[in-house]
Amino acid sequence: MLHCDDDDLALIALGEQADEQDRAHLASCARCRSRLDELTATVATVRSIGPDDVPVSPPAAVWAAISDELGLGSPADASETTSVAPAVDLAAERERRRPTRVRIWAAAGAAAVVGVLAGVVATAAVLSAPSTGEVVASAQLAPIDGSGLAGSATVSRDGDAKVLTVDVPDLPAQSDAYYEVWMATPDTSTMVAIGTLNPGETGRFTLPAGMDASAFPVVDVSVEHFDGDAGHSATSVARGTLGA
Ligand SMILES: [Zn+2]
Repeated sequence: MLHCDDDDLALIALGEQADEQDRAHLASCARCRSRLDELTATVATVRSIGPDDVPVSPPAAVWAAISDELGLGSPADASETTSVAPAVDLAAERERRRPTRVRIWAAAGAAAVVGVLAGVVATAAVLSAPSTGEVVASAQLAPIDGSGLAGSATVSRDGDAKVLTVDVPDLPAQSDAYYEVWMATPDTSTMVAIGTLNPGETGRFTLPAGMDASAFPVVDVSVEHFDGDAGHSATSVARGTLGA
């Protein structure tokens, strides 16, 4: 059986009328109908790309490079198309029909590439943006060993740094001891001393640069004595695990 030409199926997917021969063949050939379905879905996907999918235009040089690669014309022509939805570009290409059928797919491919690149650029922008104050993790701190002391902890961004904020409202003053905030691995086998928490205050600690906060999700508040021992006293009053 002689199957439909892929280029003809592409044009049908783009909305062109199938000729008599293709119509008859499509009526009886599951393989070609399935191929047409795929192409139709591709066209629908490309056409559905709207302004919302293109939050940031890629640099002009990107389109210029794509245009050069695909022989689509001068970057000057292309600069118009980068500012509109790729679907519009596809429609413009479609007007040119058969003599440039290869260009239709080149344009669709390029439009898809631009869409992906725009997404990458937007994602990179979001990841690199110092969104100060954004809370990235938080925890409720529950009483340990009947201390009756509960609180909360958050990790937030401060530019490129991360800040741990710890609040245990009813922390009683101690005459011969103080409170220390720790961050620990899930099994608490490794603990990092973060800083001193004074009763009546909200502790705000800039985490050490380079510390992977997610590897130390347990926030612990301990009672420490003025004994020169830098290790954890093993007496905790509240503890919780940071989660998104
Ligand atoms: Zn067929």
